[in-house]
Amino acid sequence: MNDNPAPPILALENVYKRFPAARRQGRLGRRGVVRALDGVSLTLRPGEIVGLVGESGSGKSTLAMSVMGLEPPTEGRVLLEGDDLYATLRGPDRLAIRRKIQLIFQDPYESLNPRQTIYDILSEPLWIHHLVTSRAEAETRVIAALNEVGLTPPQTYLTRRPEGLSGGQRQRVGIAAALILDPQVVVADEPVSMLDVSLRSEILMLLRNLRDRRGLTLLYITHDLATAALFTDRIAVLYLGRIVEEGRTAQVLREPQHPYTRALLSVIPVSNPRLRRPREILQGEIPDATEVPRGCRFHPRCPDAIDRCRLTDPQLMPTASGQRAACILTGVPLHAVE
Ligand code: SF4
Repeated sequence: MNDNPAPPILALENVYKRFPAARRQGRLGRRGVVRALDGVSLTLRPGEIVGLVGESGSGKSTLAMSVMGLEPPTEGRVLLEGDDLYATLRGPDRLAIRRKIQLIFQDPYESLNPRQTIYDILSEPLWIHHLVTSRAEAETRVIAALNEVGLTPPQTYLTRRPEGLSGGQRQRVGIAAALILDPQVVVADEPVSMLDVSLRSEILMLLRNLRDRRGLTLLYITHDLATAALFTDRIAVLYLGRIVEEGRTAQVLREPQHPYTRALLSVIPVSNPRLRRPREILQGEIPDATEVPRGCRFHPRCPDAIDRCRLTDPQLMPTASGQRAACILTGVPLHAVE
């Protein structure tokens, strides 16, 4: 499946995350439980860009918080370089571990403190992590980071505040803030969704260049399969807390195996009419995460559903085309619920 023979730098092993559902009652009168992540396993190898794609409510942000060390799994493990992330964060090396994995936020308008200058924003983590001892040293690192994300000449940005920058410039500052601690893994949570369409590919290409130059590993989280198709090496499709398809990007785009992936692909705008896929419109909303249906959880929206699907809990299994999918129609063995 993956040509990169290096051991994973980041791995999720059968991760479950459940939250008590406030102010809700389950069918049996008990408090409901939101199953935000339901047995997610995913690996990222060094230098890979993996796209995690799903609708709102699929569990993408919970997964991002779990790999950032901010949301401990209810069950399962998150491994960074083979070590249990949450066990390490309880030990004396927690600052060093936090440096290894950084986050690019979705909203460059909300994530930057409007009272701080760009120098303050970018130098603050250096002081917190004791990586500099003087203003001159900090300024050298801030200037290098601004250069790297294309904010040039960098000296002209040091005393500016976020309100004087465009959305694209703000997001470049956000990327510089993630890079300034020299992380090995960057989690980019919808990093272009708040930007004009004209700027999106520019920022995505910047991320890819940074990966090529620094050997960064990138987890790109998005609801937009079209942008994931542009620059990722692998794609994992998340539906209601579970990965329903995962494989190399080119393969998933060429031969999507799960009906949900096909539906997502069919709504990507394609200018050449001969290359357009037939539209597959999903019925209704993503089901309530406190009321996950029995059998295949995609069943209520699935255009291919058959009777068996109501009683079958398909697991993610290898398909003939080379990726993995959770659908009984892809020829995987069945796992009966009852
Ligand atoms: Fe659709 Fe059935 Fe496949 Fe689930 S198992 S995706 S309901 S065809």
